[in-house]
Amino acid sequence: MNKVFLCRETDKNETRTALVPSDVAKLARMGYELAVQSGAGLKTGCGDREYAEAGAKIVQTYGEGCEFADIVVRVNKPGGIEGLREHTLHISSFDVFNERAAIGEFAAAGIRLVSLEMIPRTTLAQKMDILSSQASLAGYYAVVLAASRLPKIFPMMMTPSGTISPAKVFIIGVGVAGLQAIATAKRMGARVEAFDTRPVVEEQVKSLGAKFVKIDLGETGQTEQGYAKELTPEQVALQRKAQAKVCAQSDIVITTAKVFGRKAPVLLTSDMTRQMKPGSVIIDMAVRTGGNVEGSDPEKEVILDNGVVILGGDGLERFVPKDASNMFSGNITAFLTHFWDGESKSLKADASDEIMSGCLITDGHKIVHEKFR
Ligand code: NAD
Repeated sequence: MNKVFLCRETDKNETRTALVPSDVAKLARMGYELAVQSGAGLKTGCGDREYAEAGAKIVQTYGEGCEFADIVVRVNKPGGIEGLREHTLHISSFDVFNERAAIGEFAAAGIRLVSLEMIPRTTLAQKMDILSSQASLAGYYAVVLAASRLPKIFPMMMTPSGTISPAKVFIIGVGVAGLQAIATAKRMGARVEAFDTRPVVEEQVKSLGAKFVKIDLGETGQTEQGYAKELTPEQVALQRKAQAKVCAQSDIVITTAKVFGRKAPVLLTSDMTRQMKPGSVIIDMAVRTGGNVEGSDPEKEVILDNGVVILGGDGLERFVPKDASNMFSGNITAFLTHFWDGESKSLKADASDEIMSGCLITDGHKIVHEKFR
């Protein structure tokens, strides 16, 4: 396996591409042969000519690319198996927990599915981690977006005409996106508070100069991979009650609280958003996985009767496609490099490798991943 096809994304809202020309050149030097579907990098600012100069052949249709390749790469899950040949290694994010039927279809067709969001969160695999690379950009952009909608500035300003108080930003969920959101809001001069159920986060919040909101929820903890454990309904109720006052005083609330593979907890109820100040902005970054905010909508902004604006912050990395594509491409290139076998000059999908077994979902007409078998 050494023939890679980079196809055009089919989701009209997608702005990123899975490989940028500089990484195409790197892979070509290694020994991969590459084909790129015409226009695959246009929204990112990468034209066909750059890909061709990097060593890829440009193909016009998806079918042509699939016919050429034994490895297909893209950002998002494909619409279906159509066009993909048996034994193809298909590498993309796949939303595996919500796509059980599609997994079965891929297995039946003999397509080997790599789901990038399932790559184990280990030190070795860090450079392949699309969840982190994209979440950090999304966290940054959430603050930029909120700032653009807020009727006031972020920093404190003391002028002869009067003193402007700093904006108050509250971040709920301090994983990769949350940390970047804190850092961005601090740089812009806001007063920042944050909360997460994982106790280890408190130090990280403080080191960024933000205040950690203390809420005693009893036993919470985290999984081996660093993910939060699901709270009990009683704990969620406790958390809501304790957060209500901070939300009411905040100009911006950004929620990023997710539980891997499960529905996100509702942390801001309508009662709480009704108590917030007119003009306050809420961004729900968990809106696609159930939503942290009652009433948030992934497709449109919601303005409450009290003037509070709720934005569904899904896929915010798509607003900065150049950096997002560079990082995504870096993650895929690291993956293709890790599994490159110099002797046979091909990719070796070694299922005994911890990274491969973590993210390979189907193989040999079977579902092989333990979580989905
Ligand atoms: P995520 O997107 O699954 O969740 C975002 C945050 O929401 C997490 O910090 C989680 O603790 C928090 N959360 C969940 N329920 C909550 C609730 N009820 N209230 C408040 N917060 C809640 O997580 P993520 O950002 O992808 O990563 C989480 C952690 O995983 C990282 O901070 C890190 O420790 C670890 N990680 C490790 C590696 C690695 O070792 N390679 C890479 C990336 C992340």
